[in-house]
Amino acid sequence: MDQGTRVWTEPCLLQAAKQEYDRVIEEFLVVGEKLFGPYIWGRHTATSLVLPVRYDVLFKPPLFPFGGMENPCLTFITTCILAGDRSLADVIVHEICHSWFGNLVTNGNWGDFWLNEGFTMYAQRRVCREHYGEAYSSLEAATGRALLRQHSKGPPTQQTACEDQTRFKFHSVMAEDALEFFLEYFPDLKKKGVHKIEGLEFDSWLNVPGWPPYLPDLSAGQSLMKPTEQLSELWAVEGLDMASIKKTNIQAWKTYQTVYFLEKIIEKSPLPRETGGAVPSHHKSNNAELRLRWAQIISKNQHQPGYQHVRSLLSCQGKQMYTLLVYRALWNGSEETRALATEIFSATSHQLHVNVRNYVKKIIA
Ligand SMILES: [Zn+2]
Repeated sequence: MDQGTRVWTEPCLLQAAKQEYDRVIEEFLVVGEKLFGPYIWGRHTATSLVLPVRYDVLFKPPLFPFGGMENPCLTFITTCILAGDRSLADVIVHEICHSWFGNLVTNGNWGDFWLNEGFTMYAQRRVCREHYGEAYSSLEAATGRALLRQHSKGPPTQQTACEDQTRFKFHSVMAEDALEFFLEYFPDLKKKGVHKIEGLEFDSWLNVPGWPPYLPDLSAGQSLMKPTEQLSELWAVEGLDMASIKKTNIQAWKTYQTVYFLEKIIEKSPLPRETGGAVPSHHKSNNAELRLRWAQIISKNQHQPGYQHVRSLLSCQGKQMYTLLVYRALWNGSEETRALATEIFSATSHQLHVNVRNYVKKIIA
């Protein structure tokens, strides 16, 4: 592919993987270097900003339970991101950003894992904003928030994040080190006592569960989100007005707009109509993020014509996040969807990663 970048897959996926990421990885690396400093892995000297470097991606078999694992020089990644149109490349961006946050500076214990993932998510959004523009990256962030209900906090500035990894590179750090450095780097904020403002005390940030009092402003994505919210409203009313629904050309939407739309439908499900009634259908899509949401909608609305889709999704991949979300939706539904969950689990449990299998057992116990 690019100079210094290779994909490794089972033979049947090689062409698809090559096509999906040819030249794209290098573009993301260039943006990462611009924002966060030299990418040092697989490089003999850390002084030159000129590529090539070594960044290979190994596509794991479909039952690999995680989205990705950022091993330096050789990221492991799920085949679920092979959408055919590069629309799920944000996962690769995420793993690339771990080159700076996670691999270059690492959390000192598992309780501070947020240092790895928090800074990496921030870095991912920054790279995506540079590459795709602010509207799209805000939309993608809103989708992530809706799905994961992640706790989030006021974002550090890019500069602090950058200095942070320069100061601590090749070290494992604790939350206290990072927070202390933050105040040291911003003496004005320290003087103002930002770390003592109610709800934003570092102790609350670190130890109090629930949503924080501050959430990043994603209104830059409004122009993309608005039409999806409007369409979801049309689906959520008692009598369906298909004529109005069909007026929206969702074929013209970007992938994450459709994802966001389906998230809204999931929030509103079960939809106010008889069991098994009409739901927005995405049965033709090969995109794993869309297939996941559609399976959740089918489960929550007990939409019998879609049960085969749920079976197929839970049989052909074993990503932990997808698998658990769908089993939860099935188990929280009716007797019928619970029976479906049990049937699918008994047919597929032998192929699941042992952790995923044990988590599913807990859900359907
Ligand atoms: Zn990560």
